[in-house]
Amino acid sequence: MGPPGVGKGTQAKGIAEHYGVPAISTGDIFRANVRNQTPLGLEVARIMAEGSYVPDEITDAIVRDRLAEPDAAAGWLLDGYPRTLAQVEALDGVLAGAGHGIDAVISLVAEEAHLIDRLLKRAELEGRADDNAETIKHRMEVYNEATDPLIAIYRERGLLVEVDGLGTVDEVGQRITEALDATPAR
Ligand code: AMP
Repeated sequence: MGPPGVGKGTQAKGIAEHYGVPAISTGDIFRANVRNQTPLGLEVARIMAEGSYVPDEITDAIVRDRLAEPDAAAGWLLDGYPRTLAQVEALDGVLAGAGHGIDAVISLVAEEAHLIDRLLKRAELEGRADDNAETIKHRMEVYNEATDPLIAIYRERGLLVEVDGLGTVDEVGQRITEALDATPAR
């Protein structure tokens, strides 16, 4: 978890590879659908371009189906999900049904002003449809309102692993694996 631009996607791929589990990114799944102009893609394109959240029912169904794929049987890393309280509850339900649990919730921390700069630079480099000044501001607001409060839930559950998100990709990645390796096995 972490605010837009903190490096969730990049770190998720590295950490998942390190532990030999798939990185499941709802943002990547939605973007692939938009690119391929699937019915789902056509439904979510506008929502994503304006930086709002895709409705919970759609997102929850995608994650539920993805977690049922064979490659997720021995573990997974979710990137960008859950993002709302309803998604936390939906995930709890899916995991309870499967007899699985969450080992850890990684929270990447960085200052908002720094992240806005980072996102504006990414906009120039990658040209993501949702990386422009107006949308970035909206995404930060949505994050602060809907997602940031979820961190407290996972902290209360004793699952939160907070990591400083500032630094090179390798530095932050190392911090995460060190913190996870120091976390008691569940
Ligand atoms: P991301 O790549 O994680 O920043 O996600 C890009 C966009 O996909 C978000 O701004 C949302 O529009 C949508 N999205 C990704 N994950 C979720 C989620 N868990 N709930 C709702 N919308 C999501």
